[in-house]
Parts: sequence; structure tokens; C-alpha cells
Amino acid sequence: MSAQLQADEARALLQASINGELPDERGRFGPFGGRYIPETLVPAFERLEAGVREYLHDDEFQQEYRRELREWVGRPTALTHARRLSERWGTDVWLKREDLAHTGAHKINNAIGQALLAKRLGAKRVIAETGAGQHGVASAAACARVGLPCSVYMGAVDIERQAPNVDRMQRLGAEVVAVETGDKTLRAAIDEALRKWVTDPSGIYYLLGSAVGAHPYPYLVRELQSVIGVEARQQMIDQAGGLPDVALACVGGGSNAIGLFYPLLGDDVELIGVEAGGTGDGLGENAATLATGTPGVLQGSYTMILQDDDGQVQETHSISAGLDYSGVGPEHALLQATGRVTYVSATDSDSLAALEELCETEGILTALETSHAYAYAREWSKKNPGKRILIGNSGRGDKDMPTLTKFPVRIANAGT
Ligand SMILES: *Cc1c(COP(=O)(O)O)cnc(C)c1O
Repeated sequence: MSAQLQADEARALLQASINGELPDERGRFGPFGGRYIPETLVPAFERLEAGVREYLHDDEFQQEYRRELREWVGRPTALTHARRLSERWGTDVWLKREDLAHTGAHKINNAIGQALLAKRLGAKRVIAETGAGQHGVASAAACARVGLPCSVYMGAVDIERQAPNVDRMQRLGAEVVAVETGDKTLRAAIDEALRKWVTDPSGIYYLLGSAVGAHPYPYLVRELQSVIGVEARQQMIDQAGGLPDVALACVGGGSNAIGLFYPLLGDDVELIGVEAGGTGDGLGENAATLATGTPGVLQGSYTMILQDDDGQVQETHSISAGLDYSGVGPEHALLQATGRVTYVSATDSDSLAALEELCETEGILTALETSHAYAYAREWSKKNPGKRILIGNSGRGDKDMPTLTKFPVRIANAGT
């Protein structure tokens, strides 16, 4: 259950959100967000916040950022009409192709933006955290591009599970730092990166990978990822003849979803975020933070989290490493509380089936994270025949081959 808002309060907050007035000056999205951090971290966050205010919307910075998106990332990414999938589902399905962006997912939009910001702020080194390794790869590439050394903090358990990505990061010039503390996965890697940052807040830039954490990260990441929704909105008008009836995106920390949704908040478009339903509804069996969690503080932000009755943060499970996190960006918590966006979940097995179907009908091997959005879009289509659907295709699935090879292909000759 989400935090309760009075109806008039919810309406006012949603309007403020549409007007671009959130977060407020304290970094809050209504009751969510803010900055719940130890005293030692305050100078680093204040420095970053001042830098964001000074440079992010500065003309020169924006020109440089747009140029990198165009020339190096390969934007705008295509909008693809999924013709055969549309025929099968009975809806009109359009895909925003972030899988075509450099390094294979939307994460690069944020990484290159923050790497340019790090340069402006005069940082001498960039640090980043990574779970599955995708943000680590994007950060390593972006840092090489702007000419800054990069250290990626990664849990020892994840290093073992994601060996190919460790190699990719190192080839792109990054140092991979093994984190042996805590759960030795993403949460511990973030804590360790923050500890490192404190030692030299002016020399180090911390490049966070999703729309989570303390202010200003949820805001900064949303601003950098909104290019997805801005492009998709115009492409729908130009190519599909109008805005979609619904837009869906998968939600881990929530960066690709907020990037797609934010520019559509003021439109008459239903918005649906799809989380990892894992293997079941029990605590520890999924990563469906918004769909099943409760409000609390995690890593500097008041948001929805997966916790037990004593407030202990829970382990999560998902077949897709990129959705496997017990928190979510605070802006999503607000959008859920206002009723503007609906958050649902899709199971591991339904997501796998959806991935296969997309492969066989459209020739697109999508990421396991992204497959969750397809799994739910398929269900939605059954109840809404003839409607126009936009799906945020957040990344490509090549990285998932080691996982996919464990599951034999189920649908033979789907095209016949
Ligand atoms: C990392 C990742 C995600 C999840 O992260 P968000 O911040 O929720 O977008 C989704 N899709 C892909 C392809 C990813 O690599």
C-alpha cells in the first residue's frame, strides 16, 4: 500500500509535477524524496546540488550534452512499429528503441550527462556503483569519452555472477573495485561508493546509475533520461498519427520509466510501470517495490521499499539483475500516490515468454528487464483491443544470454 494523500493534495502535487515544479527546494516529491544522509555526506551532496543548479540547464552544457547524444550515443533512437506483434495482440504496438543506444541500453543517456557534469565541476576521478554491470559499462565508456579515470564499485557476489561485464568495464579503462562488505551486491556497492566519495568530495564525482538516492540524484537522472519521452512523444505524433493510449516501461530504480513517463504526465496517456514479480508474492521472492512495498528510508531517500514489519530491508529476487533492488525512485512513489501512474508486476516466467515472443515476431532480442513491460502489455492488450501502445524498450538482451541459455526456447515457428 502506498502512502495516503488527500484527494486535493494529490491533485495539487500532480499539477506541480506536470508544471515542472518538483522536486521542491528540499528535493522532495510531495512526501517522498529529500535527503536523509549522515552529516559526513552533506558537503558532497551540497556541492553536487550547486553544480547541478549552475550547469545542468546552462546553454553551453546542454549543447555539449545534445551533441554527445547525437554523435556518440546515436540519438534519436528509433521508434519501431511492431507490426507482427500488433497483429497477434490485437493492439497497435510501438517500441521506443533504447536498445539501439550506444552500449545497449538507456543507461548511457545518464552516464554521459553526468560524466560531462563531472568535467564541468573539475573532478579528477569518477566513481560509480554497479549491480549487474550495465551502469558500470556505461560509466566506463562515458568516462573514457570525456577523459576522466573511473572506478566502479561492485559487490563481490556480482563480480562473480557478471564476469563478462567486469571484463568490458576493464577494457573500457575502468578500475573495478570489489566490495566485500554487507550483502556484497548492489546495496553494499552504493554504500561503499558513498564512503569513498566522502574522502574527497571536490576531487571525486559520484556517478549514480538510477533515479534513486538522496537529492539531487532523482532529479538529475530524470532530467537526463527525459530525452527518451521527449523523443518518443514527437515520434508517436509523426509516425503513429498521435499519442499512445498507454505507455509502459519496466521499473527497477525507475530511470528509464521516469524518462519515458515524465514528458507524458500532462497528456491523456495511461502510464504503467512494470516491476519484477519474480517467483511469487512472498517477501524475498520478487522486487515489486511499489506494487507490494511500504514507505521508508533507503539510501538517503524516503520512498517505497521492501521491508519486513521491523523495518529490515528485504533481499529481493528477479530473473533480471537490473530490476533486483529493494528500493525505487521517490518520484515514482509520488506518481503512484497521486494515482497518475499505475505500478504492476510481471513474473519471471511470463517475462521470459514475452521475450521469446518479441524475438520471434519482431527480430528483437530485448533485455530481461524490458521483457517485464512486454509481459504486462500483452495482458493489457487482451482487455483493450484496438488501442495504441507505446513500450519503452529499455535495452538489448545480448547481455542476458548466459541466463537465457538455461531456458530452452519454447515457441517453435511462431511466425507460421
Ligand atoms: C538497468 C536496466 C533497467 C533498470 O533500471 P531503471 O533505472 O529502472 O531503468 C531496465 N532495463 C535495462 C535494459 C537496464 O539495463
